[in-house]
Amino acid sequence: MTAAAAATIDNRLAAVRHDIDRACRDSGRAPGSVALVAVSKTFAVDAIEPVIAAGQRLFGENRVQEAKAKWPALQERHPGIELHLIGPLQSNKARDAIALFDAIHSLDRPSLAEALAKEIARQGRSPLLFVEINTGGESQKSGVLPDLADGFLADCRNKYGLRVSGLMCLPPADEPPAPHFALTAKIARRNELNLLSMGMSADFEAAIAIGSTHVRVGTAIFGERD
Ligand SMILES: *Cc1c(COP(=O)(O)O)cnc(C)c1O
Repeated sequence: MTAAAAATIDNRLAAVRHDIDRACRDSGRAPGSVALVAVSKTFAVDAIEPVIAAGQRLFGENRVQEAKAKWPALQERHPGIELHLIGPLQSNKARDAIALFDAIHSLDRPSLAEALAKEIARQGRSPLLFVEINTGGESQKSGVLPDLADGFLADCRNKYGLRVSGLMCLPPADEPPAPHFALTAKIARRNELNLLSMGMSADFEAAIAIGSTHVRVGTAIFGERD
């Protein structure tokens, strides 16, 4: 990565932080109440280094294997990095996921709840857990259907002994996101969950207005993915 490319990433990160702060102020929220998850999926270590150098410590990846290949060395060089899994998780990768990640945003089915509970007990690590809601009812997407969310959350707690902290959603690409954020926030409220993982590069400001606590921003920081 050239110095110019690193400077571009610096500027983009500063702009995203600025926009987050403004969105917080506009909705009467404290600027520190929204965590920026910098989504580094598909980007190599040399594109990630300048973002770390600019002070970012919280990153998101969508694949266990990719994260495992990239992050342990980076984490050794830069203490205090927090890593979140934002993509779908296969139950047979629960062991690696619990070992590597500080949060999992994609809990969406009983078999995964069971696998995670087992690994949390085995490894004595407890990452933050978000249940993903398929607010658009899209068949190709993972996530729990809104009507089944309360029952799944109760099962997570009572059947698997999991402590879920929040909800995540990924609105359909071709619809206004606000109603999907609002539905997710409503399910969280009635289940007494405090965290909301909502908002990406194109819509994080709208998500913050509706209560998002974790925005997942890739393109606006790192540029277009191949
Ligand atoms: C890739 C991805 C993001 C980031 O999307 P951008 O539009 O690049 O900001 C956020 N959330 C999830 C689940 C993703 O897979």
